[in-house]
Amino acid sequence: MHPEIPKLLQLQERDQRISALQRDLREVPKLEAVANQKLSSDNARVEESQQRVREIELKIKTLELDAKTRQNTLERLATQQFETRKNEEFQALGVEIKRYEAEVRQLEDRQLEFMEEMELAKRALDEARARREVTQGTVNQELQVVKQRAEGLNQRLSDLEGERGQLLDPIDPSALELYQRIFKKKGDSAVVALENGICGGCHMKVVAGTVQRAGEASTLAQCDSCGRLLYFVS
Ligand SMILES: [Zn+2]
Repeated sequence: MHPEIPKLLQLQERDQRISALQRDLREVPKLEAVANQKLSSDNARVEESQQRVREIELKIKTLELDAKTRQNTLERLATQQFETRKNEEFQALGVEIKRYEAEVRQLEDRQLEFMEEMELAKRALDEARARREVTQGTVNQELQVVKQRAEGLNQRLSDLEGERGQLLDPIDPSALELYQRIFKKKGDSAVVALENGICGGCHMKVVAGTVQRAGEASTLAQCDSCGRLLYFVS
């Protein structure tokens, strides 16, 4: 076995754990998004309820304005009626006044109906807000768990990177360079066992010459198929 192999295996063990941690860390934003997603339907319900309250407010205001306009007209008609000396005009104005009074009553009735609706809408809004608050509490807890997990992962990552740094020094630079190039390319491993003539990385049979080189201390044997560094397991 080449003397660099045990050192490279130690390094690879750290590199594999580092890769796994980095994969876990990449999941963190997704987990946060999933947690926040839980608020979206509650937010939508609050939004809808607010919209409903605003609509009813507008309807009540419009009815108020309509009633006010008719009240003004009524006052004008009453003055005209008071001032007129013609009986016919007095009668006609009286009919018109009655019509306007009926309209004002109708408008006021509708206002009352909308005020009742407003009470319901406001209650629905309060409920929607309360529900969102409960969900927000759950989401905050989940986000806290995710945050703590990310902190733990980052801590382990920095520990491993420290260990990895210390392992680098004693490794022959050209062996290290070769190892790093293969590890980067393969993503999972660069040094694998050669067992019964089979590469532990790609599971292909290697030629007899390669098997022999894997047993020698002078050469770093590489798999004929995948290029991974091989060490001999008898
Ligand atoms: Zn291979």
